[in-house]
Amino acid sequence: MKNIDELAVFCKRKGFVYPTAEIYGGLSGFYDFGPYGVELKNSIKAEWWRTHVLQRADITGMDGSIITNPQVWEASGHISSFTDLLLDCKKCGNRLRADQFIEEKLGIKAEGQPVQGIKQIISEKRLKCPKCGSGFSEPKSFNLMFTTMVGPVGENSSIAYLRPETAQLMFACFKLVSENARLKLPFGIAQTGKAFRNEISPRDFLFRVREFEQMEIEYFIKPGQDCPFLGEVMNHTLNVLSREMQKKKQEPKKIKIKDLIAKEIMLSWHAYWLAFEQKWFTGLGAKKENFRVRQHLSEEKSHYASDTWDLEYNFPFGWKEILGVANRADFDLKQHMKNSGQDLAWFDQETGKKIIPHVIAEPSLGVERAFLVFMLEAYEYNKERDNIVLKLHPKLAPIKAAVFPLVSNKPELVNLAKKVYDDLKNEFSCFYDSAGSIGRRYARQDELGTPFCITIDFDSIKSNDATIRIRDSTKQERIKLSGLKQKIKEMIQ
Ligand SMILES: [Zn+2]
Repeated sequence: MKNIDELAVFCKRKGFVYPTAEIYGGLSGFYDFGPYGVELKNSIKAEWWRTHVLQRADITGMDGSIITNPQVWEASGHISSFTDLLLDCKKCGNRLRADQFIEEKLGIKAEGQPVQGIKQIISEKRLKCPKCGSGFSEPKSFNLMFTTMVGPVGENSSIAYLRPETAQLMFACFKLVSENARLKLPFGIAQTGKAFRNEISPRDFLFRVREFEQMEIEYFIKPGQDCPFLGEVMNHTLNVLSREMQKKKQEPKKIKIKDLIAKEIMLSWHAYWLAFEQKWFTGLGAKKENFRVRQHLSEEKSHYASDTWDLEYNFPFGWKEILGVANRADFDLKQHMKNSGQDLAWFDQETGKKIIPHVIAEPSLGVERAFLVFMLEAYEYNKERDNIVLKLHPKLAPIKAAVFPLVSNKPELVNLAKKVYDDLKNEFSCFYDSAGSIGRRYARQDELGTPFCITIDFDSIKSNDATIRIRDSTKQERIKLSGLKQKIKEMIQ
């Protein structure tokens, strides 16, 4: 993949992702998902929920409202501090996000720099408007939350916000959820759903968008409590870029979790969650060498976090964050206690004391970024076949199996193929296709990432069997129709 635009073109051509309302020229930072994109996105979310919530005794789910009481955003600090700095060209009015512009021009991280720092860099390095070469006016702070009105417009309506993250209702509902699910520390609350950020310059296809979906966990512990799951990942290796290494301009190093802990490079909880999340990606077909973990520099840390590590991916446009693991300590619960006047403390039955749990990790992943990772990993031009083969993990493939009659003008073949299709579609997403040569039909399914194609031929009528063709190897084998569903089920695992 040379660049991300190639993937965007492919995604539109094959029905994965379109610019929103394209007939009206789209809207920057917003996308619509087509027939195969919605299936891939749903599979990503289902896999995430299965491995992060259903298969874990220590995590429970919830689904909070997108628009909520604005006091939530007051307490969380989003109204005062969820801002980016904006640069305006004095002459042509060109608007740029200051930190991104600096990072692109000079290759240095500028996220989280205050106005003074940005001003200094701009004047020292004599940065000018890339469009017309003029100077910039004072950097301006810009809040990224979308506002809306609740109630009929007029004196009774009130201002509200589209949520910029899913996290806050997991804090605001903390007491109810933890009591209802009868959770004992350490435990997590998980949520997936839409979030909205009025990005100054959306870019890189689905990477930086204004409407997106998050899959997020707030993980609570007793202050100082160690990670009891560390044994599961001790021998796992991460490609590590610590704050120290970045300052010394060193390359990332492959380090085992047990050494990261022994050398105190990382807290046990960060190490556990970063390894767990990287394993989630590689378990669904992504290559380990395309991931690294990077510690935030002191100036780029968010207003709430005391230490943050990102899981980064090697995108065609550079190493970028796909997931953050932030240590928020007791910041959020304390803020909501202060602002609501409610007691959100957790009763520790072991000691008989009330405590404020700490959020030790907040593994937060954008669905669209995961979508990009899996598409980039899968996308491959096959010279021999002269088509794209999308090598998606069968669990993620939008269509699990396609069913073809060898020819479309023989009713006995068509009838049997339709019967097989009807039976399979009760179990998996399937596609029936009788148009064009078998070769064309294989090629179309290769491009959609369909792992298995089933062809009903003349022998099928006599012997009640079919050929099953495997996407990645193009190997074919004959299989009895009675065992077909079970065989596909096994191969999806
Ligand atoms: Zn200009």
